[in-house]
Amino acid sequence: MPHSENPLDAHFHPASAPDYLPLPQLRALQLRRLRETVASAYRHQNCGLLKQRMDDAGVKPDDVNTLDDIRRLPFSVKTDLRDTYPYGLFTVPRGEVVRLHASSGTTGKPIVVGYTEDDIATWSDAMRRCLLACGLSRDDVIQVSYGYGLFTGGLGAHYGGEALGATVVPTSGGNTDRQIMVMQDFGVTAICCTPSYFTHIAEKAADFGVDIRKTRLKAGMFGAEPWTEAMRHRIQEDTGIRAYDIYGLSEIIGPGVAIECSEQNGLHILEDYFYPEIIDPETGEVLPDGEEGELVLTTLAKQAIPMIRYRTRDITSLMTEPCACGRSMRRIRRIGRRSDDMMIIRGVNVYPSQIEAALMRVKGLSPHYQIIVTRESGLDQMEIQVEITELPGDRMQDLESLKKTIAHNIFSTVGINAKVNLAEPKSIARSEGKAKRVIDKRG
Ligand SMILES: [Zn+2]
Repeated sequence: MPHSENPLDAHFHPASAPDYLPLPQLRALQLRRLRETVASAYRHQNCGLLKQRMDDAGVKPDDVNTLDDIRRLPFSVKTDLRDTYPYGLFTVPRGEVVRLHASSGTTGKPIVVGYTEDDIATWSDAMRRCLLACGLSRDDVIQVSYGYGLFTGGLGAHYGGEALGATVVPTSGGNTDRQIMVMQDFGVTAICCTPSYFTHIAEKAADFGVDIRKTRLKAGMFGAEPWTEAMRHRIQEDTGIRAYDIYGLSEIIGPGVAIECSEQNGLHILEDYFYPEIIDPETGEVLPDGEEGELVLTTLAKQAIPMIRYRTRDITSLMTEPCACGRSMRRIRRIGRRSDDMMIIRGVNVYPSQIEAALMRVKGLSPHYQIIVTRESGLDQMEIQVEITELPGDRMQDLESLKKTIAHNIFSTVGINAKVNLAEPKSIARSEGKAKRVIDKRG
């Protein structure tokens, strides 16, 4: 039963209390945890990278006396994890590490992250609060269709669901027929997976004559790949569920760093655990609230691998105005762009999410598409393959005008002429995890 201790939120639960901390208390807690984290990483990091960087910059852990002093600390980046593979950034003896996860890179060795028993508790609590923010409770049946394994998605959602006291169904990714059977037969009320995999599940369900609106499913927590507001509307309209954006990354903890609340307007960062900054990606300078830049995160309660000022490569901005849900934790705008995903086509910066938004505005298209980039006679070419939901007989004119509309939408969004190919329904490969939207053949 929902508690009514906070009149602002019908779903208030004692575990959510930190989300509503008064700001002076929250800032004091953050400062205390920041000082502890910096001191520990400075002294105990196996590779000594942070100590070396801080010494070079002439900064000592004791110099951190206000939250703004965080700006004096050096950044850390993804290659730090790779360069010190596998355990260089760990700050506890291996005997205290109870779990390892790894994320595969595009090249070479993966990055390895570790958790102490307390880290697992922190992570479970973060995920539990995320699920609460989406209106879930112990009465829910949560299907976890993220992959279980070295990837943090599956086990992260799993532990959070159990900590909430909900019934967790660990289907992992794949075997879509069985996912649909489980969803129906087990009375699943919420699902955790990538948004692209959910669109695949929904499509297959329709093929089987299963109407998701008639199942008990009411919410999805979707993450692990960028997706757009347009895609959210599409999912909500097609299936009748509420689609929430969840954010996280293995380097920081896994899923559970930030979550949308019932307002679905920005993601609350769990600020008692993760301290956010927005920087200019070129200069590294901290930007004022509201300005768009690269998200930088510092862990405030992580033991095995504390991360100081980690550059996420995700582009967003901080929203500091109060949220109607009453949470005091600041929000980040939905992340539509990762600097890693940026394609440079004919000298123009293009993000897959811009293409997605342009496509989703057109009626008659499925949410399945691919962007193929090639180079012909030294000139970049962008081709969009997108499925139409049904073939309009042989009305070639309709198809031609549909293509024109799509090309026009893309041109007005990114300023590039794209070749548009309408694909037959269900002809583009479906993903059971992160969708492969871009095929860059330029080498
Ligand atoms: Zn809110």
